[in-house]
Amino acid sequence: MIPFNKPLITDQEKEYIMDALNRAHISGGGYYTKKAEAIIERTFGAYKVLLTTSCSSALDMSAILLGLKAGDEVILPSYTFVSTANAIMLRGATPVFAEIQEDTLNINPEDILRKITLKTKAIYPIHYGGIACDMESIMQIAEEYSLKVVEDAAQGVNVKYQGKYLGTIGDIGCYSFHETKNYSCGEGGALLINVNDQKLFERAEIIREKGTNRSQFYRGEVDKYTWVDMGSSYVPSDILASLLCAQLEKMDEIKNKRREIFNYYYNELEGLEKEGYLKRQAIPEGYDSNYHMFYILLNSEKERDQVLGRLKEKGIKAAFHYIPLHISPMGKKLGYRLGDLPVTEAVSSRLLRLPMYFELTKTEQDYIIDSLYAVLKPRKFAQKHA
Ligand SMILES: *Cc1c(COP(=O)(O)O)cnc(C)c1O
Repeated sequence: MIPFNKPLITDQEKEYIMDALNRAHISGGGYYTKKAEAIIERTFGAYKVLLTTSCSSALDMSAILLGLKAGDEVILPSYTFVSTANAIMLRGATPVFAEIQEDTLNINPEDILRKITLKTKAIYPIHYGGIACDMESIMQIAEEYSLKVVEDAAQGVNVKYQGKYLGTIGDIGCYSFHETKNYSCGEGGALLINVNDQKLFERAEIIREKGTNRSQFYRGEVDKYTWVDMGSSYVPSDILASLLCAQLEKMDEIKNKRREIFNYYYNELEGLEKEGYLKRQAIPEGYDSNYHMFYILLNSEKERDQVLGRLKEKGIKAAFHYIPLHISPMGKKLGYRLGDLPVTEAVSSRLLRLPMYFELTKTEQDYIIDSLYAVLKPRKFAQKHA
């Protein structure tokens, strides 16, 4: 069986974990937590970085930091993971779903403009598959309408856009280091504060530490620590941070390997696209990527589901992706209906992601590619002659 994803665990990861255990500081805020935060700050040029237990927690923290509340509206794509919308809902604010662009499957700035009302407070763009949203337009809109921007850069770690890194462009950025992401520590994330605002950063530290000023206490800035604001438990263990450090140190090696895998899929599947069987994920001219995924678009949902099943029979774990949030049971409760976001609905029903991970071998990739040809071409042929 070729899995869909496989975490990369080398001797270095094991060594760092042992070292973290030997340091006997296994809660948060230890040697490796600080080290990982420093690597992210330095490499990506963020003002301040806080490791978190997940990207979901970073998103929750961002919504608290923005002061979102009942009556506020926040614009985000429907084509995203639930955590983006949950962060907004948990503050009592209303998620407003916008349409995506057909080329990148990222939020469409024109639809953002259509959905802005007097209640709109923020935009939460997500960088799908490690390809940047049209941040230039999004930041312009945000400035014009005085909106905050929080980047859900869960999939966008180590990607450049116009000289900056994704996650450092909006007011706040959120990263994920979940097992399924390019750089992973099992469960983990980071909150990036990009505005030069020490007060905002201090509040983020407090929210992450259960609403206490414990971080300031550790730095000797206050005599005792106490409850000063609302918050929760968003600090990851130093053991996980050690695992993350090992991954961050080989960030570019991972990116290069994934680029090779991406390009091989892209080139080898050209024949199927030329004959109209599928459309390959393409990276727009001039765009960087971390090659988080490789997807194809089949011609219909039925065909996608058939291909998924046939690949599984051949021992290949491919995967569909997001069920658009606006047509999920929760989205329906919010008043959305099928037909509200036609591009999102059409694309999500035809999308199929192929196995993509560091250790995927050329032999395995050849087998996946051959299987796709075998699955798609004879069936088309049979249909045509039915
Ligand atoms: C993975 C992902 C998340 C959630 O990340 P966790 O670290 O698992 O909480 C949020 N948003 C997007 C777009 C994601 O891909």
